[in-house]
Amino acid sequence: MSSVRCGRIVACFGREWAIEDADGHLALAYPAAKCEELPCVGDWVEWEATWPKRGRILKVLPRKTLLTRPGPRPAAANVDQVLVVLAPEPAYDLLLVDQYLVVCEIRKIAVCLVFNKLDKIPKEQRSRLLEGDLAPYRTLYPILLLSAKSGEGMDALRAALKGKTSMFAGQSGVGKSSLLRALIADQTIRIGELSARAHRGRHTTTSARLFHLPEGGDLIDTPGVLVFGLAGITPHQLALGYREFQPFIPRCRFADCRHADDLGCAVHEAVAGGAIDSSRYQRYLKLLAKLPQIS
Ligand code: GDP
Ligand code: ZN
Repeated sequence: MSSVRCGRIVACFGREWAIEDADGHLALAYPAAKCEELPCVGDWVEWEATWPKRGRILKVLPRKTLLTRPGPRPAAANVDQVLVVLAPEPAYDLLLVDQYLVVCEIRKIAVCLVFNKLDKIPKEQRSRLLEGDLAPYRTLYPILLLSAKSGEGMDALRAALKGKTSMFAGQSGVGKSSLLRALIADQTIRIGELSARAHRGRHTTTSARLFHLPEGGDLIDTPGVLVFGLAGITPHQLALGYREFQPFIPRCRFADCRHADDLGCAVHEAVAGGAIDSSRYQRYLKLLAKLPQIS
């Protein structure tokens, strides 16, 4: 008799995890001693029931992608797509946007740029939105212009989320929770019941959650601002994280070119010749300077 089941982690409350079965049933579970990895939201796991609506996680199945954050616990697993949200206010920080893009590129997670609060931009100025700061991104990433408040552009967002596991990233105040609320409507109740029964860790006030979208696809929400840190990223990876540099990198004279003031740098030449946007390149240099020095 085998009682091993497969399910997905849909919430994490301190020391307990909520698993959803293929049939949509929820159970609260904790990792068995033999479970080698600490599960996180988005993980597919093997588990066994120990009691009605209670269980033990036996194994975390191999992850397609993993987003980490400082501390022992990863933030989310099996995220296919990160939606980097920016807005006319608070003022956006393109260095931070580039950092998100680099980390996602390295972790092989797709990115969609979401420009929220479109309602704050007068109609006659909207056509010029993509000509300014955002222009260099147009050929590199899909960009959606929308408003969580007015609902404009939300259908395109729903279409972009379909069939994937996605997650929002972006500065506080850009409208991530507003977008989430607009997309998931009233799914909070079911998990709310489980959360009340969970033995919460003292430090957990909110929990990471995976929501199903009515059109298909899932959205992961984690408490706090996700850190897409540069720890562990090498200069070579950073350069590859700038998508438009990729075709030029193999043409640099030296294999260990940092694409800064190196001799015979094809990336640098492409910037000079206008094939690579210089504002993106300047931000690359800033991020390069932030990397922990390794010689
Ligand atoms: P988060 O910190 O990224 O989760 O941002 P919130 O969802 O909490 O939103 C921050 C503020 O922006 C709130 O006052 C929202 O009401 C407001 N906001 C969110 N989306 C929109 C929008 O599309 N248009 C306007 N005008 N305000 C918005
Ligand atoms: Zn180079």
